Order: sequence, then structure tokens, then C-alpha cells
Amino acid sequence: MSNLRLRFPPSPTGKIHVGNIRTALFNWIWARKNNGDLVLRLEDTDAARSTREFEDFIIKELNWLGLDVDEGVGVGGDYGPYRQSERKDIYDKYINQLLEDEKAYKCYCSQVELDKMRDEQKEAGEIPHYDGRCRDAEDKDIEDYVVRFKMPFENEKIVVDDLIRGEVEFNSEEFDDFVIKKSDGMATYNFAVVIDDALMKISQVIRGEDHLSNTPKQIMIYKALGFDLPKFAHLPLILDENKAKLKKRSDDDAVYVGEFRRKGYLPEALFNFLALLGWSPGDQEEIMDKDEIVKKFDLTRVNKSGAVFDIEKLNWMNNQYIQSMDLNRLYDLSIPYLIEAGYIDSKDDIDEERLLKILDLTRDGLDYLEQLSSETELFFTEFEFEDIEAAKEEINDPEVKNVLNGLIKELNALEDFSSDNIKVVFNKVRKDTGVGGRKFYHPLRVALTGRSSGPDLVSFSEIMGKEEIINRLNKSLELITS
Ligand code: GLU
Repeated sequence: MSNLRLRFPPSPTGKIHVGNIRTALFNWIWARKNNGDLVLRLEDTDAARSTREFEDFIIKELNWLGLDVDEGVGVGGDYGPYRQSERKDIYDKYINQLLEDEKAYKCYCSQVELDKMRDEQKEAGEIPHYDGRCRDAEDKDIEDYVVRFKMPFENEKIVVDDLIRGEVEFNSEEFDDFVIKKSDGMATYNFAVVIDDALMKISQVIRGEDHLSNTPKQIMIYKALGFDLPKFAHLPLILDENKAKLKKRSDDDAVYVGEFRRKGYLPEALFNFLALLGWSPGDQEEIMDKDEIVKKFDLTRVNKSGAVFDIEKLNWMNNQYIQSMDLNRLYDLSIPYLIEAGYIDSKDDIDEERLLKILDLTRDGLDYLEQLSSETELFFTEFEFEDIEAAKEEINDPEVKNVLNGLIKELNALEDFSSDNIKVVFNKVRKDTGVGGRKFYHPLRVALTGRSSGPDLVSFSEIMGKEEIINRLNKSLELITS
């Protein structure tokens, strides 16, 4: 067993969010850097909302990003079970110990009573809190109760010693006798997490800043049970472009990891991007592979302040990775997008050489692979002028007529319709007609593609082939009336 033991304990209550996966990623990097162990635990104490399907999603996304774990759900290990729903007896044992030691007590208050208490406190100008009224209640023979942890302090400082934030102070008055066992018999998060982290020998707890306010409660439980404290590190929040906390939006799937995968972000690009949310290597380097990130990463150099999730930067980064990736891999990845766009029927219905050329020509314009639909449309759809009036204006000109006729003659004569030869022809016709620059290329672009912008015309022509190109030139000639 390694000395450094880390954990990633998501709750399988929904699709996994980029904030959570960033936490997983930082844990993974830190574990790999230090030859530590990373444990995957599933915090499924919320029985109504936790599902195996969400669990599968989490595991799928971790695998996709290459975040392998050393121990836990799906892998096994010496400290299981690794699903909290399977650990109820373990929690009960420690809850009973606290009850026996009078460090916790049963609370029989009804919801109505609790609501009334809180309303009265609000009216009196107090912050609503549980006032401890069941602390000395007699044991009752009823099933409907919760167990509360008895706050051991009054007006005392509780210090969280954080690897990123330094010492963060809380006052015990901020906390009331909080529930550690719910009326359904299951331990609460704040209790179960301590038992699990302690028994699984977790040495560092690295998680999001949103859990910082839970940490004092957890520290009190560690102390009440005589467990050693792990080290804590709270990662900065992820903010949206308005510097507000990045939320899970029900109307918009954009913050879910699966959505990035679906849109065609590459795992290595998302990995690189997420690693820079709250950390930087201290040099100007932005594009880094996993090994380099692991080498340079230092948990103590993670920022305290929130990290803005800049989608433009992610797009830029993904584009960089798409530009430099292995073309055959791009080919494989492109197929579902081309099927989705309706350009091909299946992976057996492809002219391989042609598709490789198309991808090589268009990849610079892709921020993510879903854009293949628009970026490659020209190669898969029937020729038509996007704007016939504008096309006429561009093409209906005696000089353009000369250019088109010249090209038809010269291109027809080509035996090998390669880009090198096409280029020679373009240059020759420019010279022969005396039409150069924009006057040559712009009408020609409209004539060959039907549009006013697009890919390099020489490569485009080679991909489309002689017959199609000559047809298009002839079709464009028909626009010429003078
Ligand atoms: N299940 C918690 C969450 O997903 C884990 C928090 C923790 O790391 O302690 O937010």
C-alpha cells in the first residue's frame, strides 16, 4: 500500500459534471505523480436519486479521460465494499459507539416541530439552527428518529489546515447538532465520508471548495472517534464566463462530461484544459500531454481563487489537438459524425482515400468534431449556388468566361488530376488570360463550390475529381449571358 492514498467519491445521482471530473483529474494527477493510490468510492446514500446507470456513466467518463483508479468500484481492493449503500452496518457500528459515549443522541422532533422552532428563531433574529432540545430526551421505543452529533464545543475555534488555502478558521457556533443518521436509517454524507476516509486509510482529501464548510463537522467526527485526520485540499470553484459558479443547468447539457464527448472534444484536450482550471505550470506552456502535466503539477501551487471555464479556450485547445492528431485516428473518430450528418450510411460506405484527404484539408477549421457536419458539407452534397444572384454577379463577366473556358480546356487535358498538376493549370490559365489575384480566385471559388468562402481550391478540386469539376465549370458558364 502506498503512503499517499487519495479518493474520488462521486454521488451517482446525475450525469457527471465538469466540476466533479476536474476533482477526479486533480486527484489522479497527484496520485500518479507521487505513486499513490486512487480509490473510487460511490456515495450512493441517497437511495432515491442514486442509480446504477449514473454509476456506469461516471465510470465511462473516467475511462474516456484515461483516469484509471487503483482500487474501488469495478476494481476491488482491501477496504471495500466501496459503495456506501453496502456499508450501512459499518456506519451503524460507529454511530452506536457515539451514542454509547454520549457524543451523539437520538432526536425525535417532528418536521412540524422543527419548522416551528426555526420560524421562531427567525422571528427572534437568530440564524435557524437545531437548539439541542432532544439532547437529554429519554430513549423512546419508536422507529422514527434521527441521530444527531452532539457539538462538543461552545464558541471555540475549529481550524481546517488546508494544503491550498493554509489555515481556515471556523467558529463552533456556526454549527449545530447536525444529523449523522437519517430517519431512513442511513448515515448522512458528513458522517459516512469520515468513516470511509478513515477506514480506507485516505491520507489526503482533495475535493471542491463547496465542501470546505463541511470539513469542520467532519473534523469533529474524526476527533470524536479518535481517528487520525487526513490532510485536506479544497480546489477552487469553477466559474462561468460571468464569474458566477458554474451550475448544472437543466436546460443545457453543456457542463456534463458526456456532452463534451458527444460534441467531439478529444479526451486529451479536455484533460489538458481541465488541468489548467485552477493550476498553471508557472511557464507559458499551455498545450501539455498527461505525462508533462503529471511531471509539472504541484498541489500546493493550485490557486485559491475561482477558475473561469472559458469555452473559447477549450475550443482553441481542442482545435490544436485536432490539427496535430494522427490522421487515421481522426478518420475513425469522424465516422459517427458523418453518419449523423447523413453524408455516409455506414463505415463500409466510404472511399477511404478521399475521406482522409477531406479530413486533412478541413481539420484546421474544426473546434470540435460535430462541426464536421458544416466543414465537410461541400464534399458530400449536390452542387448548388448558395446565392444565385450573387453568383451571377461574380461570374457573369467576359474575363471570368475566359478563365472558365481556359480551365475546362486545360483540366480536361490532364491525365493525372493531382493537386500538383491542377496548380500548374491554375497558374497557366492565370497567365494566359491575364486575370490574376482576387479576380481569378473569387469567381472561381463560386464556380467550383457555389460559395464565397471555403477550403483551398486546388486541394478541393483534386478531391472532387476531374469529371465533377469540369461539370461545375460548365454549369457556371451557363450563368454567363454576355
Ligand atoms: N459525494 C460527494 C460529492 O460528490 C463527495 C464529497 C467529498 O469529496 O467529500 O460532492
